[in-house]
Amino acid sequence: MGSVSESYERAAREWDESGRPDPEAKAWSVMTMSWWMVSPGAKHDGVSQRLIDYEARLRKVLDRTNRDWLDSRLDGHEYCRICGQSWRAENCAYCTYCTRAYPPCCGDKRGLVVLPNGNLECSACHKGEIVG
Ligand SMILES: [Zn+2]
Ligand SMILES: [Zn+2]
Repeated sequence: MGSVSESYERAAREWDESGRPDPEAKAWSVMTMSWWMVSPGAKHDGVSQRLIDYEARLRKVLDRTNRDWLDSRLDGHEYCRICGQSWRAENCAYCTYCTRAYPPCCGDKRGLVVLPNGNLECSACHKGEIVG
């Protein structure tokens, strides 16, 4: 199991064991969690039903305050740190931990490490996986 998988499953377990209250939801974290759950790394590590329930509840909490939370999150632009090109945020991938943006250009130049579960490791924090 990867460390991202472990921390998501831990959060889902704590939520479950405390009686499944409305969790505190941050749009960025929920977005990257959703993307992680359909990533190759998640297929490798496995996703529990508890984590599926937890993610659904997080989305519900966000929906309640702003139905467009995901679209408004992806409305902006990100700049490539290598070539300087500007990309629409929705075309970028993001780190699950530090939310660093990874535009689709300059792939080889980023020198990213492939983790045992098949996902790429974030080179900024070395704690998250890159999803999107
Ligand atoms: Zn670039
Ligand atoms: Zn990171």
